[in-house]
Amino acid sequence: MKAIKVIMLLVLAGVVLCSCDRTRHTPVADNGQLKVTGTQLVNERDEAVVLRGVSFGWHNLWPRFYNRKAVGWLVSDWKCSVVRAAMGVAIEDNYLDNPEFALQCVDNVVRGAIREGVYVIIDFHSHKKHTEEAKAFFTMMAEKYGDYPNVIYEIWNEPDYFTWEEVKEYSEQVIDVIRAIDSDNIILVGSPHWDQDLDAVAANPIGGRPNIMYTMHFYAGTHKSWLRERVDDAIRQGIPVFVSECAAVEASGNGPVDQAEWNRYVSWMEEKSISWVAWSVSDKDESCSMILPRASSYGKWSDDLLKEWGKITRQTIRERQQ
Ligand code: MG
Repeated sequence: MKAIKVIMLLVLAGVVLCSCDRTRHTPVADNGQLKVTGTQLVNERDEAVVLRGVSFGWHNLWPRFYNRKAVGWLVSDWKCSVVRAAMGVAIEDNYLDNPEFALQCVDNVVRGAIREGVYVIIDFHSHKKHTEEAKAFFTMMAEKYGDYPNVIYEIWNEPDYFTWEEVKEYSEQVIDVIRAIDSDNIILVGSPHWDQDLDAVAANPIGGRPNIMYTMHFYAGTHKSWLRERVDDAIRQGIPVFVSECAAVEASGNGPVDQAEWNRYVSWMEEKSISWVAWSVSDKDESCSMILPRASSYGKWSDDLLKEWGKITRQTIRERQQ
């Protein structure tokens, strides 16, 4: 009888241990709700966090990759801790023309990221100013996803020829509609000239709105040390920076991979604990596209289905991700 009791206790202990083992280690399970302390992205224990991942291309140009299985592959094989849904707000069939399709694509990626336990950037992928449309869109996003620690809002991908004052005024309005619903998730703010004018941001930053960061985008074939130096200055002045888009090719999205400059950028981001997201999961005939046209839409991409930039990105993330 005593032996049976001992066996039952051992079985019970085994069940308890097994259920503990089932607690998954994912970036979101490990870090929880992110916030910004000083210039640094930190986790719920105030430890510095560096996210590394990839952006999907414009949803209206490469919708085939906007699915949960592709997200799953980017997490399991590429080791991404963040992915970015680039919801197109220009070009044919964009969000303004066809919101239902755009919202479905975003939802596929966000749901995939939540299931995989990674962070996900909801990117209003626009070069122009659509203040009212952005406010309505982010109200919807905050209502739908604001309780998920996974979600990061990127409210204006790359303002082109606007002044910082215009971008700032837009950003404050959009931040405020998000904050009315979601008090804490990280919000990424753009700056003029495709997220390069961090000096203008540093001279006149947005006040009184915590947990925001400013995006910097670089294309290593075009943007050299001057951009890193400008961002270093901004960080010294207290500006938190997130690289939500980057590549090793030219700013056009084409041209050769500049491996040496890419390596310098990666070392710089790692040294500064800056999170980064590479552009893009798409199959266009241009050098910043990562995937070949004959590859499946659903991941399981062997090396021979990745373009040069896809292989470099995958390798860089895998080497750096803890
Ligand atoms: Mg929240």
